Amino acid sequence: MMGILTGEEGDPVALENSAARGRVILVCEHASRLLPKALGTLGLTEEALASHIAWDPGALAVSRLMARSLDATLVFQRFSRLVYDCNRPPESPAAMPEKSEVFEVPGNAGLDQAARDARTEALYLPFRKGLGRLVENRIAEGRPPVIVTMHSFTPVYFGKPRAVEIGILHDADTRLADAMLAAAGEKSLYDTRRNEPYGPEDGVTHTLKEHGLANGLPNVMIEVRNDLIKDEAGQGVVADYLTGLLLESLPKIQ
Ligand SMILES: [Zn+2]
Repeated sequence: MMGILTGEEGDPVALENSAARGRVILVCEHASRLLPKALGTLGLTEEALASHIAWDPGALAVSRLMARSLDATLVFQRFSRLVYDCNRPPESPAAMPEKSEVFEVPGNAGLDQAARDARTEALYLPFRKGLGRLVENRIAEGRPPVIVTMHSFTPVYFGKPRAVEIGILHDADTRLADAMLAAAGEKSLYDTRRNEPYGPEDGVTHTLKEHGLANGLPNVMIEVRNDLIKDEAGQGVVADYLTGLLLESLPKIQ
């Protein structure tokens, strides 16, 4: 089977600020709505392809601001989660969803194993390897990192408005989330909640498990309601808020 990405389309994994000296590695699995040329539009309208089903609007911009203020390396996927959702393992139906919220994804309907494998090899495996290698190197250098994954969510889901503004999500290791929620409680700038609007039961902690828990590294997943980060001003305010929570929390965890 031919690969999905052409040489021209480049590496699916982007690494920014790779010589950073800070403790945090920022990860953005849903940074982009770019589709590989070979897959066309997946049968979706422009509107659907611009919406939250294709990517996490604002998440990359906020991550970049935080990478600067935290002196953190940022790792992100350059292609849309509709092709492969890098926060899911290959065996999960959600890795290549046939339906996302209210949108059917025609180009993902009835994919056979060869098609699933091709997408896994094109997008997921290089992402997993790139992030895994970075983490391994940091550990080998004697500076074990903290894994922070960055996401955004839609303010209205299945027609229902969501009140939560920022979600601090965790799996079995609650160290960093606990410290951040305590810090957020004192500030009360945003409606900040634990494991909302998603939690580990929704299968969203795959990256945390693979790269954080498996290595005993502190980790957290941050979800920002995307209406708060739709322009530069909002992105700056949220990035400052999250940077503040992290800088206050990091010294408190081992
Ligand atoms: Zn996301």
